Amino acid sequence: MKTKFLKLFDDVSKNIRGLKIMTQYEPMFFFYSTSKCVLEALGPYVNIFIAAMLIEELAGERNPGRLFALTLVILAVDAVISLVKGMLVRRCDIYNDGLWADQMRIMTDKMKILDFPDVDSKYAIRLAAKMEHAANWGNWGLMRTVDIYDKSITAFLRIITGIALGASLFTKLVPSGHEFEVLNHKAFILLILGFMLLISILSPACGAKADKYWTDLGEKIILGNRAFSYYCFLSEDDKRAADMRLYGQEKIAEYYYDKYFSLSRDTKFSARWRFLEGAISMVLTGIIYLFVCLKAWAGAFGIGAVTQYTGAATNTFMGIKDFFAAVTMMHTNAGYLDTVFEFMDIPNKMYQGSLTTEKRVDRKYEVEFRDVSFKYPESEQYSLRHVNMKFKVGEKLAVVGMNGSGKTTFIKLLCRLYDPTEGEILLNGINIKKYRYDEYMDIFSVVFQDFNLFSRPLDENVAGSMNPDEERVASCLKDAGFELDETKMTKGLKTWLYKNIDKEGVEISGGEAQKIAIARALYKDAPFIILDEPTAALDPIAEAEIYEKFNDIVGDKTAVYISHRLSSCKFCDEIAVFHEGTVIQKGTHEELLQDTAGKYYELWNAQAKYYNEKRDCA
Ligand code: ADP
Repeated sequence: MKTKFLKLFDDVSKNIRGLKIMTQYEPMFFFYSTSKCVLEALGPYVNIFIAAMLIEELAGERNPGRLFALTLVILAVDAVISLVKGMLVRRCDIYNDGLWADQMRIMTDKMKILDFPDVDSKYAIRLAAKMEHAANWGNWGLMRTVDIYDKSITAFLRIITGIALGASLFTKLVPSGHEFEVLNHKAFILLILGFMLLISILSPACGAKADKYWTDLGEKIILGNRAFSYYCFLSEDDKRAADMRLYGQEKIAEYYYDKYFSLSRDTKFSARWRFLEGAISMVLTGIIYLFVCLKAWAGAFGIGAVTQYTGAATNTFMGIKDFFAAVTMMHTNAGYLDTVFEFMDIPNKMYQGSLTTEKRVDRKYEVEFRDVSFKYPESEQYSLRHVNMKFKVGEKLAVVGMNGSGKTTFIKLLCRLYDPTEGEILLNGINIKKYRYDEYMDIFSVVFQDFNLFSRPLDENVAGSMNPDEERVASCLKDAGFELDETKMTKGLKTWLYKNIDKEGVEISGGEAQKIAIARALYKDAPFIILDEPTAALDPIAEAEIYEKFNDIVGDKTAVYISHRLSSCKFCDEIAVFHEGTVIQKGTHEELLQDTAGKYYELWNAQAKYYNEKRDCA
């Protein structure tokens, strides 16, 4: 019993926490929603009360003036209630839409500030997907707390007013000596009230069974829904359109869509419980009508009061039933809220540093890897092992190695997208964890291999801000070798990239995108510039241009440069060769070539041989 009570308390506090979050987003919604609930709860009683007076008049004196006046009052009250209710419902609908969007925004806002490892490990993404699924499937989660609030307030008010209006049903007695005098007996009162309570519990219990079937099904069809979102919208993905057509993928998509999504169509069990929920309520309504009519027939009160008492009793019953339904709903929703709060409470471990990186005029930021080893979250294997590296300020370091040797991981650690599993990274002699995260990020300009541009104007893409310095944008684009073709980009730097938002946006080639990404890194003008395979998508001429200009582009920055094309690393001051997560060689191009047993020599010769063969073939 005690644990049940504690569980109820726990459910209530979780739902209140969810409601508080929603209140912060749309405070006015709660004013309108509460007003609507009051009107919904009290409106029927006003009607019942005046209708009872009208019937009483009809059964009694039948004064035409009074009858006319009462009819007018009913119509006027009805009109006002409907009007105000209509206005409130409309307001609530508008805010409801807003709340729905807010619920998604709460999720995406959190996603934006999560530590990178939590996003990359898919843990947070899985939780967010679960939240989204629950919201789409049955409005469970944050949004449901608003429904529960609505339902409980209305139910509470209905019960209070129902009792106020219907209590005299038990105090107005059948005259003594009447054959139905037995209806005055206290046992009847207790029986009716007990029955009312029993059915008020049974009916929502059946509703909860139907809901449970529905929610269990929801759990089962997570895969079905994922298949729906993926396969059904595949045809809208322009990047996959060509492969879909060339490899007949649409039939396969249809097959999987049918296979997984068909699970959601089975609703027969839920319908049975829904039927019982309604049927049990009707039994009680019948009993109430019988009891009230018998008392009226026996002379306990006038015919007009029949409407009042039946209305009051059924409304009270509905109130109790809705109240229990809200409690059950709160319990089910608490499970979904657990996922919501698990997601929202993911801590930001990487944001704990407080030291400022002090904006140095000389841009002398010295970074050192000291015996750094690293395992990705949820991975058993080390991706980096015992890496020691000191970046010489203003020099150019090339990082080379085979696929999977740890080059990109090394860069991710340098930029503090991940923290080392062992060892430490130092900035000017101090562990980087001690610096403010955002300030540390500010000292790096990176072009990742899988960089992303966004559907927004070209200048905003380059500047990474809403207030781009147009001159600087143009000069960075020029340095990155990007030619602004005014016949294609008719709005110049203000031309939108991609057509997702602006129908006049332009689609750009992989090479153009790479140049824009390089321009973005230049615009940031950070003391470190890191280029991960920066020319992979460029044609040979554009690539040669970038290399020629590389010294000018980089200027006094410390540069780290990852490339598979070893000839392009020759101009760097130092080359680090990665192999199986470790730095196995370091030196200049000439020094490394002298070690004929070394990896660099092997990689260099493999490429040189390929080029020589090509030359021989030509
Ligand atoms: P490179 O850039 O040299 O091709 P990476 O740094 O990308 O190599 O990868 C090094 C190793 O780390 C590889 O074995 C790769 O499979 C693994 N790895 C890379 N990213 C992840 C990740 N997000 N989770 C788990 N393992 C990863």
